[in-house]
Amino acid sequence: MPSEERSDLPARILIIAAHPDDVDFGSAGTVASWTDAGASVSYCIVTSGEAGGSDRSVSRAEMITIRQAEQTAAAKQVGVHDLHFLGYPDGRVEPTLALRRDLARVIRQLRPERVVCPSPERNYARLGVSHPDHRAVGSAALDAVYPDSRNPFAFPELLAEEGLEPWTVRQVWISGGLTPNHYVDVTVTFARKVAALRSHASQISDPDELERRLRGWLGSTATAAGLPEGSLAEAFQVLETG
Ligand SMILES: [Zn+2]
Repeated sequence: MPSEERSDLPARILIIAAHPDDVDFGSAGTVASWTDAGASVSYCIVTSGEAGGSDRSVSRAEMITIRQAEQTAAAKQVGVHDLHFLGYPDGRVEPTLALRRDLARVIRQLRPERVVCPSPERNYARLGVSHPDHRAVGSAALDAVYPDSRNPFAFPELLAEEGLEPWTVRQVWISGGLTPNHYVDVTVTFARKVAALRSHASQISDPDELERRLRGWLGSTATAAGLPEGSLAEAFQVLETG
């Protein structure tokens, strides 16, 4: 529940998300604590978020550029400088074999000990958390962790044509799931999470209201975790993958 002991912190962590800003809503406070402690964290964002926002005067091609730049700026706020955008169409992501292969490729390239991904399950209490793209990316990411990236006979072209050796991700942290079993106290990194979210200016009409809502959500999570009054927390379901 408290911050991880440094000895338990993996050297390399990969966050897989569907859209720019997902990681900042779900886990940026936790990411900041990991980079502060010396971990190398990378983001793999499956779409570029061109279906986001309500300004119809901005072309969707422009929106891709805007949102990639916003996510890159947000990442810097929490110590992340390595971003991979896969360019899938926002709003139309499915957990296809092609997406599994693309995620397995990134995993084999980066060789993370830990992957963070969205939940593949629908949350009836909070529909926004289980956007169809989130569910699709969560499903494909878990399949990429097991079995695709570790099995040399899964997508054999990754090894034969690209020289990418199999890699076993030991641990997965699911964000936004129905059954969290691990809480990270982000009280001290909350300001940087807010700064990261404010970087997504094309999506946020009232940043101060957003900060108030975030305090409410993360405060409730901290209460569920049994943390002291006034604490803020992010929640995950941690899986050991063998
Ligand atoms: Zn999203």
